Order: sequence, then structure tokens, then C-alpha cells
Amino acid sequence: MPVSNVPKGSNGRNSEAFARELERAGVAFGREVALSRYTTLGLGGPAEFLARPRAADEIHTLLKLAEAHELPVKVLGAGSNLIVSDAGVRGVVLHTAALDFVRFDDGGIVHAGAGCHFPGLVRQCATRGLRGIEAGVGIPGSLGGVLTMNAGAYQFSIGPLVDEVIVVSASRGQGVMPRDAIDFRYRASSFGGGLIVAGARLALTLDEPAAIRADMDERMRFRKQTQPVGVKSAGCIFKNPEGASAGQLLEELGLKGFSVGGARVSDVHANFIVHSGDADTADVLGLIDAVRERVLRTTEIELEQEVMTWS
Ligand SMILES: Cc1cc2nc3c(=O)[nH]c(=O)nc-3n(C[C@H](O)[C@H](O)[C@H](O)COP(=O)(O)OP(=O)(O)OC[C@H]3O[C@@H](n4cnc5c(N)ncnc54)[C@H](O)[C@@H]3O)c2cc1C
Repeated sequence: MPVSNVPKGSNGRNSEAFARELERAGVAFGREVALSRYTTLGLGGPAEFLARPRAADEIHTLLKLAEAHELPVKVLGAGSNLIVSDAGVRGVVLHTAALDFVRFDDGGIVHAGAGCHFPGLVRQCATRGLRGIEAGVGIPGSLGGVLTMNAGAYQFSIGPLVDEVIVVSASRGQGVMPRDAIDFRYRASSFGGGLIVAGARLALTLDEPAAIRADMDERMRFRKQTQPVGVKSAGCIFKNPEGASAGQLLEELGLKGFSVGGARVSDVHANFIVHSGDADTADVLGLIDAVRERVLRTTEIELEQEVMTWS
């Protein structure tokens, strides 16, 4: 939790006082940390602060200190649904990676931290014969990100499997939200903004590990055939418009392969933007604007962005 190497261009007195108090509180953090290392797109400038609380009470400490010093806070999970500007972000990025506990109780109950890598959690559940989340094995997020985005694939959606979620906010501290108090919508939920997911209790059903693994493998095979793998992307860029598939719409408009700078609409799935290392965030954002504008002009459909943007 070094306060050494105080960077040039830091935000002045508030930032320095925040750094001192965060260090005193024992919350691990770094300064001017390149966010390109923490997004699946592999792009993005530095975070003024990147903090890694290890428990809900540390999240609350961090939020109160940031509030006291008027520093904005953003939450980072696995960065798989995120586009970060080339300039990076001032203030605090709360990275959930250290909230990675997993505990299995009898009867299919799983307690897991927000920072658990979702595909890893799915695999652990399969090994223990726990069914319910296997269709999400290819979603490369954290559990907190999956809950916040209400991520889904095929028939899978996380909402019905949630017993309760441990949340933290600056004003109310730590709390527990039962399933029926949570609003899970299409790629959105009650979480985000000031309401941070620290962990969750999931209720899964029991089955044979081999049967679960077979279903998981089948999902992965299908994904590999239909989505770009092994390349840098942030997943689907746009939400599906009412009654249609955004990917199909973009493909029908001939947008596969369309590019701006180093960013390119995938040839495999038109709702993915990929790059091979020579793009910057400005290219990606330029391409998103150009695609959205083309769709609006040709079809009068206004595409809504699924991927989050930090500037
Ligand atoms: C190759 C690829 C395939 C994908 N396939 C799918 C798919 O099939 N289905 C699907 O739905 N998505 C898919 N995605 C998108 C992405 O994986 C999901 O949206 C995932 O849920 C994002 O989780 P994350 O931890 O990476 O969130 P991040 O990208 O880190 O953050 C996304 C948003 O959630 C917020 N957030 C993250 N964690 C928390 C928390 N603990 N508390 C409060 N807010 C939080 C962030 O502030 C941000 O606004 C795919 C992405 C890629 C790269």
C-alpha cells in the first residue's frame, strides 16, 4: 500500500490527504495504475487510485474517505464490460479482486465474494455437482459484475439463483438485500451507482458433476463457433433492440470488418469490437459512434450501449 512515487498531475491536497488516511486504515491501493491491465479490451489510461478492499467493512471505509475528500469512486470487477478513456480516470477505482472468498454449504448453497472470477466459480460449482450457473461459464466477468449487469447467456440468468446479496453504500454501510428486493432487468440491476456488491449467497441444485460438465463444454463449444475468442474485446457493445438481435442487425448492414483506426467490428460476431493491439480507446469510441449512426440513419433504430464507458 505504498504512498511512495507520488505522481505528477495528482489531484492535489484532497488526494494526498485521502492517500494518507487510506494507508492508515490499512486498505491496499496503488496510484496512477494503468487500467489497460484490468480490462479485457486491454485499453484505458491510469486510475488516480486503484484500491483493493478485502472485506465489506474496508469498502465502507474507502467510500467514507473518498466522500470526505470529494473524490469520485468507480467500481471495477473483471473489466469485461468496460471501455476506459485513454486519459484514464481521476479519483478512486475500487477493484473488487480481493473479495474472492468462496464457501460451500450443504443443500447447494454457495457464498462467494464479488471479486470471484465467474468462470472459475462456475467450474468449482460443477466439480461439486452444483447446477444452475453452468451456462454462464463463458462470461468472463466477476460475480459482482455479473450481478450488477444481470449478465446472461442462452437461458441462463443469475437473478433466479440469488438468495441474497451483501451490499455496501457510503450512506448506509453494509446491508443484505434478499432476492425479492432486487430489481434484475435486461443487462441492468439495482446495483451500481453508489450501491456496491460485496458478495452473494446463491442457491443451486444438485446433479452429477459429469452431466454439468458436459453441458458446460457444449456451451463453450457453441460460444467458440459464434464469438471471437482469443482476441481483445469487451463483449457485446449494444443491447438487443426490442424483438431483434443487435449482432444480426449489424451483420445485415454489412458492418462486419468495418473499422476506425485499430478498432474493428469482428468478422465472427458483428456486435463485438476487437483489436489486435494497435488501437486506442478513441478508435473504439469512434467506431461505436459510427456504427450507431449508420444503424440510426438506415433503420431508424437507436441502439443502446450495453458496454459501460468511463471517461
Ligand atoms: C468475450 C466476452 C464474452 C462475453 N459474453 C457475455 C455474455 O454471454 N453475456 C453477458 O451478459 N455478458 C457477456 N460479456 C460481458 C461481461 O462479461 C459481463 O457484462 C460481466 O457481467 C461484466 O462483469 P465484470 O466483472 O467484468 O464487470 P466490469 O466490466 O468490471 O464492470 C461492469 C459494470 O459493473 C459495475 N460493477 C462491477 N462490479 C461491481 C460491483 N461489485 N458492485 C457494483 N458495481 C459493479 C462497474 O462499475 C461497471 O459499471 C462478455 C464479455 C466478453 C469480453
